[in-house]
Amino acid sequence: MKLQSYILSLFLFISAGCDGQNNSGNIQNVNSMDTKDNWKDKLTKEEYRVLREKGTERAFTGEFYKHEETGVYVCAGCANPLFSSEEKYDSGSGWPSFWKPVDNSNIKEITDNSFGMKRIEIVCSKCDGHLGHVFEDGPRPTGLRYCINSVSLDFEKK
Ligand SMILES: [Zn+2]
Repeated sequence: MKLQSYILSLFLFISAGCDGQNNSGNIQNVNSMDTKDNWKDKLTKEEYRVLREKGTERAFTGEFYKHEETGVYVCAGCANPLFSSEEKYDSGSGWPSFWKPVDNSNIKEITDNSFGMKRIEIVCSKCDGHLGHVFEDGPRPTGLRYCINSVSLDFEKK
C-alpha cells in the first residue's frame, strides 16, 4: 500500500513537471480526470472556454435560456446536479436564471474582481467548472439571481 502511494505520487510529480502547467500550484486539488488535456478531450471548444477558462456565452444565445422543460440542470463537466427547473425563472438578462441551487453544497462561491467589478462567481463544487455569477436582485424567497451559462449545463429531463 505504502509503495503504491509512493509510486503514484512520484508519477504525479513527474507528470506535473513535464507539461509545464505546474506554476499554478493547484496540483493538490485536482483529480485524475482534471488535467487540462483531459478536459480538452472531454469538452467541446465552447464548453472548455466557459467551464475551464471562465468565459461567458453571448446573451440570448444559450440553449437553456428559454428552456421550460421539467427536470434538473447538471454540470456539463461532471454531471453534478446544480439547478432544478422549479427554481428557474426568466430574469430578462439573456442567460438561464435560477433563484436557488439544488443544494448549496453542490456549488462554490468565489469573489471575482475581474473587469473592475466586484462579483460573486459560481463554480461547480465537484470539478471547479465555471458556471456564472450570483447577484442580489433575484425574486423571493431568496432574493438571489444565479445567472448561469447554458454551455456549463446539461439537462436531465424528469
Ligand atoms: Zn462539475
